[in-house]
Amino acid sequence: MTASRILVLNSGSSSVKYQLLDMTDRSRLAVGLVERIGEETSRLVHEPLTGPNPGKREQVAPIADHKAALEAVAAELAADGLGLDSPELAAVGHRVVHGGTRFTAPTVIDEEVLAEIRSLIPLAPLHNPANVTGIEVARALRPDLPQVAVFDTAFHATMPEYAARYAIDTATADAYSIRRYGFHGTSHAYVSRATAALLGKAPEEVNVIVLHLGNGASASAVRGGVCVDTSMGLTPLEGLVMGTRSGDLDPAVIFHLARVGGLSIDEIDALLNKKSGLLGLCGDNDMREVLRRAGEGDEAARTAFAAYVHRLKKYIGAYVAVLGRVDAVVFTAGVGENSAPVREAAVDGLAELGLALDSEANAVRSPEPRLVSAEYSRVAVAVVPTDEELEIAEQSYSLVTQ
Ligand code: AMP
Repeated sequence: MTASRILVLNSGSSSVKYQLLDMTDRSRLAVGLVERIGEETSRLVHEPLTGPNPGKREQVAPIADHKAALEAVAAELAADGLGLDSPELAAVGHRVVHGGTRFTAPTVIDEEVLAEIRSLIPLAPLHNPANVTGIEVARALRPDLPQVAVFDTAFHATMPEYAARYAIDTATADAYSIRRYGFHGTSHAYVSRATAALLGKAPEEVNVIVLHLGNGASASAVRGGVCVDTSMGLTPLEGLVMGTRSGDLDPAVIFHLARVGGLSIDEIDALLNKKSGLLGLCGDNDMREVLRRAGEGDEAARTAFAAYVHRLKKYIGAYVAVLGRVDAVVFTAGVGENSAPVREAAVDGLAELGLALDSEANAVRSPEPRLVSAEYSRVAVAVVPTDEELEIAEQSYSLVTQ
């Protein structure tokens, strides 16, 4: 029997999301999450998609830390005959947010790699510590099993130097590893490839603008399968208007808030990352709520929606200029996949750039990759559901079986 299963782990600061996939047919065997780790009301939701006990199982009970969380997940998997001790498990694939300039491809984790991921914590203090913990705990549970790190930044490592550099003093930038790294890379990689397939072309043949619009949001310009620019930078704060993040702003806003407003650096960090974007503009970070309120004439919600769309359009225009020729603009993630009004507004008025929607096709809800552009649109407009877990599983599996 050849080992063909991959367990994908996405460890956050107080949560672990997981999926067990069988790479012979890319099917899901089980999915689930643990949330509110460290609280009294920790919650584990486990759903086997094969075997004798289908259906979601949920437990609410204190789970002290990531070790206890992974042990609880392992017990649930074992109850379905999918235990971590199975010889069919080929590897664990870990989502790791920041790979710095060191990691530009999926990497089998050893002590040295783990130490380097730890050393990148200052670049991603909110994310990499939890990723490291997830790796440590999984290694302790199955020391003999390959553990693979798949980095959110890796797909963007191909950005040319002039797109990756901020126009600041080079020595200072290099001393502090300040450059544009980009994030959501597994999603941009998966979706740009899937878009080429939707067009019946090889990735090398097409230029694609990917709009990953979730609670976090980023755009990328992908030329022939290679990322040449993306909207997030040193951290996921740069670029588009997001659920709670400001995206682009004049850096002097920070000096002003410190000097005139008397805010501390930590307060400004929290303001821009957690209380800005749609939430800052209108009090709601969920696009459904923003749209509902805007439909009722709420001025703040209307402004928030307009600001979100305005920024998105500016990036589409910028990436048309970066790519020169564009074959497709593709929407993905929670907002991009589900919100016809956002897609409609983002493409509205871009006929000069070759973009025109088919309103009827755009209004259809579907989990399938699909075209939503008008017949006559020079550039295809597509909706392609992202699948970061499948991408992590594919990259991990091909690394450990090559
Ligand atoms: P993600 O980060 O990809 O899971 O996306 C989560 C976001 O998707 C939520 O914050 C919602 O704002 C958004 N979302 C989900 N469904 C819809 C919908 N039908 N219309 C608009 N936004 C949606």
